Amino acid sequence: MIVVLLGPPGAGKGTQGERIAASLGVPKIATGDVLRAAVKAGTPLGLEAKGFMDRGDLVPDAVILGMMKEALKAPEQAKGVVLDGVVRTVPQAEGLAAVLSELGRPLDAVMLFEISDDLLVSRLSGRTVCDCCQTPFTARAPGELHAECAKDPKGTLVRRKDDEPDAIRNRLHVYQQQTAPVIAWYRDQHAHIVSIDAVGSLADVQARALSALGRS
Ligand code: AMP
Repeated sequence: MIVVLLGPPGAGKGTQGERIAASLGVPKIATGDVLRAAVKAGTPLGLEAKGFMDRGDLVPDAVILGMMKEALKAPEQAKGVVLDGVVRTVPQAEGLAAVLSELGRPLDAVMLFEISDDLLVSRLSGRTVCDCCQTPFTARAPGELHAECAKDPKGTLVRRKDDEPDAIRNRLHVYQQQTAPVIAWYRDQHAHIVSIDAVGSLADVQARALSALGRS
């Protein structure tokens, strides 16, 4: 099963993507995680992507399309894949459609995570992530940030540069300008779009997502 997760930054695509992928028994590809690992390792991809990411801008389509093609052709993706953070522009949606058609594979569902801007800003500004395993942690109360990773004892929790207020505002603007039109593009293609209310406990949102995929 191939599923694309769409929704604004902070809607919970990463966390739910992990859970959905585990329930479907397929891997998850998160372009943001791949790019952050490249930045950390100082690879040419990371050096190219860093400035865009720090500002909350999108990395150019050509870079993302190259990564996506390579990833989808890998044998681990034979059973399916959950795509988190790809696609973010109409050219990326077109590129994904072309690669899937070349591979003779259908896109089974586009899952749209819905949540208000106010909640996104408060989630993102209270978020820290593990610098080793990338697990995000959201503050339980305003101003209180988690300090230790519950999953990886070697990990240190850090704030993402693009979770600073200016970058958050820019990411929400970029989402409206460049990613929201992807929803209309998929509607025009008659894709199977499922909308998920992304507000609620992790378990509740996961249950909604799996039931929308017919896997409760
Ligand atoms: P994320 O972890 O999904 O919030 O992604 C973090 C950052 O990585 C984004 O703000 C972009 O700078 C970059 N990025 C991730 N995926 C894409 C994509 N599909 N297209 C362009 N830029 C991306």
